[in-house]
Amino acid sequence: MQQEVEALLALQEDDLKIREIESQIRLLDPQLADLDKKRDQAAAALARAQTAVQAEEKKQRELQGRLAQHKQMQERNLHQLEDVKRMREATAATAQVESTRRLMAEDEGELAILGRRIADMNATIAASKQALAAVEEEQQAARPEIESKRSALQSELDDAKRDRNGKAVSVSRPMLGKYDRIRGKRTQALYALRGGSCGNCDTAVPLQRRNIMAGSGQIEVCEACGVLLYADSA
Ligand SMILES: [Zn+2]
Repeated sequence: MQQEVEALLALQEDDLKIREIESQIRLLDPQLADLDKKRDQAAAALARAQTAVQAEEKKQRELQGRLAQHKQMQERNLHQLEDVKRMREATAATAQVESTRRLMAEDEGELAILGRRIADMNATIAASKQALAAVEEEQQAARPEIESKRSALQSELDDAKRDRNGKAVSVSRPMLGKYDRIRGKRTQALYALRGGSCGNCDTAVPLQRRNIMAGSGQIEVCEACGVLLYADSA
């Protein structure tokens, strides 16, 4: 029976190692998620800046179209002014020229403001592109580093699992089932008695049971916390 304790202890050592490797692998996930988030944020900022400038450029094209129309109108106005002979018609034509000139000045003023705004926005786009490129460059080094850490841990994990499965055959099937069930609920399933008490929860184990455990190497379940207990003969 002492053999079973030893086999189970060896198995448990592997299981604790496997847990440790698995938790190290899990720690890498948020690192990758952080990289994704940072890159997405930089890309979203660039997309927003590009959409904003597109809207302003559309306004600019409309305004340029309006100015072109006003220029054509003014050409006609000026022809008309040359053609008119009578005073009253000349006054009206002059007023028309003046009003169109004001419209054109308004168009040009708006276009100048819009042009400055678009230039500012293009500067923002350039800055966003640079920021995105910087994030991508930074990640070009970080990502493979994380990936190689992960694959190293993964092969370590595969080895540990193979070792573990090799050792599991040395434990009787009912004991292995019990051990696996208990292990599913907590980190460690098997504890040594410590001063006559459960090594996990410190509840005293009756002397008679302790004697049986020490004598035959029998594994018992702690009545208080449910872990497996063995008498450490050493
Ligand atoms: Zn206990």
